[in-house]
Formats: sequence, structure tokens, C-alpha cells
Amino acid sequence: MTLPALADLDGVEGARVLTRLDLNVPVADGEVQDDTRIVAALPTLRWLGERASVIAACSHLGKANGTPDPAYTLAPVAPVLADALGRPVRFIDDCLDESIAEAEPGTLLLLENLRYYPGEKADNADFAAKLTSGFTHYVNDAFGTAHRAHASVSAAPRLFAPGKKAAGFLMETEVSALSRVVRDPEQPFVAVVGGAKISTKTAPLEALLDRVRSLLIGGGMANTFLKAQGHEVGRSLVEDEMLSTARAVMDKAADRGIELLIPTDVVVTDALDHPTTIEVVAADAVPSGLLVVDLGPESRQRYSAALAGARTVFWNGPMGVFEVDAFAEGTLAVATAMAESSGFTVVGGGESVMAIRRAGVVDRIDHVSTGGGASLSFLTGDELPALAALEE
Ligand code: ADP
Ligand code: MG
Repeated sequence: MTLPALADLDGVEGARVLTRLDLNVPVADGEVQDDTRIVAALPTLRWLGERASVIAACSHLGKANGTPDPAYTLAPVAPVLADALGRPVRFIDDCLDESIAEAEPGTLLLLENLRYYPGEKADNADFAAKLTSGFTHYVNDAFGTAHRAHASVSAAPRLFAPGKKAAGFLMETEVSALSRVVRDPEQPFVAVVGGAKISTKTAPLEALLDRVRSLLIGGGMANTFLKAQGHEVGRSLVEDEMLSTARAVMDKAADRGIELLIPTDVVVTDALDHPTTIEVVAADAVPSGLLVVDLGPESRQRYSAALAGARTVFWNGPMGVFEVDAFAEGTLAVATAMAESSGFTVVGGGESVMAIRRAGVVDRIDHVSTGGGASLSFLTGDELPALAALEE
């Protein structure tokens, strides 16, 4: 099975195309705060714009939950999209509005938040039929929601025959970069996993153990590994119910001869806001009143060295509470080591992507995935509902 691409579409000239985008951008006071996702959708919209007759773009935004909610309107996206594309965008304040099917040739529509209808999250066939009515073709460029069986990415594409549906450029790029990491990665493959909790990343961690040569653990989840090794971690973020998971990862790594790096020294503090104490201590000597918030210098050195020889690198999850400058060194060290790597480097995640932006190294990473949850699902080897529906 291969993912159908835009070039595989039959009869796209003059077609009426529904395109599912990821326009889930941060909005405050009616203004788009970060246009990254809008910009990422432009290549597909431009390609369609040169061929199709009518294009309707649809997306979800925020936590709208089955009912119209002005806090999550897509309206502020329309002018930003129009500016970026250099063509008018007509906003339709109901994604099932009857006028959509009658839009005249040359129109680009932006439809209101899909999640104003409960049918979207429920993968409802009836909702999908209404959403797609009047369209001859369907294009999905929303990699960020590819792991969710929601109507606009699952039931909707099933209503289009092969040749009438395709992945957009962003989706194609995401899938090909992540495939290079998942299928037969060039060795040595080194994965770096951090972030807040091990519980949200158990499946990808286990899947990585089938492929990597080295696994580097950081962030809050490293505390659970330290505790599983028998060390005290003071007041640190730790998940006691995940100690057995951490042990299982350590055992599996040992069985397979995988190099597993856990911090040997850490930065500890008394408080995240207004800290009065910041110290580096050995990972087996964390004072009881303090919390672990970053890799120490020796660990940074070890992690950077492990990354230096890698031919493939995947990174998800910051190494510390990088939002606070004093606790960002570990995360910056990994970002820098990846930027300097001559191997194929991929970063996926939410905060992880923010971190490489802050480090100023986005341009030196081979692929920065826009889909946090979707990239982890892909890495785990799960079937992504949106991809399956396009391939059917
Ligand atoms: P991503 O979105 O990249 O997948 P996560 O959502 O799993 O990453 O985790 C990101 C968060 O983890 C960050 O906001 C960071 O502050 C937090 N974090 C990292 N290290 C620690 C730590 N030692 N203690 C508490 N929180 C941490
Ligand atoms: Mg996150």
C-alpha cells in the first residue's frame, strides 16, 4: 500500500476539492499567534489553486466539543491565509452550510471548525456525507490529526474512490521522513525521549527498542528511571505506577545490547518559579527537598557524544523544564548535537518542536514533524486511520 499523492489524482483540473488541513493554530483576542501551520498548508493549496475550480479548506481548532463555540472559531485564520496565498478566502461560518456546494468556480472557501459538530469526533458517516457533498475530490494534508479516527479524515475519504483522494504535500513529507526512521533506519539509530511523563510514551518507547542502537532518556520521565534504579528523586515529578514500565525498558535494553543512557548527574532546584537554589548533583544523591529539572553537565556530554556518531536520530520530549532558561541546558545540548549531526535527524512533538525553535536550529534538522501525537503513533507502528482511509 502506498499513500496516493496529489500527482496521482484523476481529473483534478476543474474539480471541486475538499481539503482537510491542520489549521489548529493558537488564537488570542481574535488574532492568530503563530502561523506555522498556515504556512505549512500553502504548497498544497497553491498546487490545487492552479488546477481545481473550487477549493474548500476545513480543519478543527482547539477544544471545541460538538457545539458552536466562539472561543474556537476559525474566522481569524481566513485573513492570514488570504494574505499568505495572495488570493481571497471566503469564510463560511458553518462547515455544512448549503451554499458550499454551490460555490462558483475560482472560489477558495475556509469552513468553520469541524468540531462544532459532534459527528466529527464520532467519525459519523452522516456528517461525513454532508461535509463531502458537492465535492469531486478529497485531499488530506492534516498529518497532525492522522492518528485520530475522526469523520473529516476517516469516514470522509472513504466516500471517495481511488484516484479521487490523495495526501497533500505536507502529509507526504511527514510520512516519508518518519518512514525512513521506522522502516530500516540507517544504523546507528539513536533515539532521544524525554518530556514530562513516561505514561504518555510507553508504546513508542517499547517500539523504539526494536530498532535503536542507543536510547537516551531525559526530562521528567528520567526521574522514574532513576527511581527504578533505586535512587531517591526528592520532590521531582515521578510516576510511581510506571516504575515497572521503566524496569521493563531497562531489562529489554540490557537483553538486546542496546545502550540505554539515563542521567548520571542532574540539575536540582527548590522551585520552578523564583528558584533560590540551583545545583548540580550526582543522580544518586538528589537532596530530599529538591526537584530534578535538567540534565547535568556530565550527562549533557554523554548524550552529545552518543548523538555524534548517529546515522539516524529521532527526538521527542525536552530534557528538562526548558521553558525556564536556567533549566534549558540539557535540551539545548541535544538540539545542538542534532543540528551538528551528519545523520538523518527527525524531531517530533509539541514542546520538543518549540525547544528546537528556541535553540535556533530548525533549519539544521532534516525533518521537524508538525504532528506530535501522530508522529509518536507512526513511530509506534500503529495504523493511522487517516492514512488507511486514503489508501483504501
Ligand atoms: P512533547 O510535547 O515534546 O511530546 P511532553 O509534552 O511530553 O513533550 O513534555 C514537555 C514538558 O515536559 C515540558 O513542558 C517540560 O517543562 C516538561 N519537563 C521536562 N523535564 C521535566 C522535569 N524534569 N520535571 C518536570 N517537567 C519536565
Ligand atoms: Mg507536549
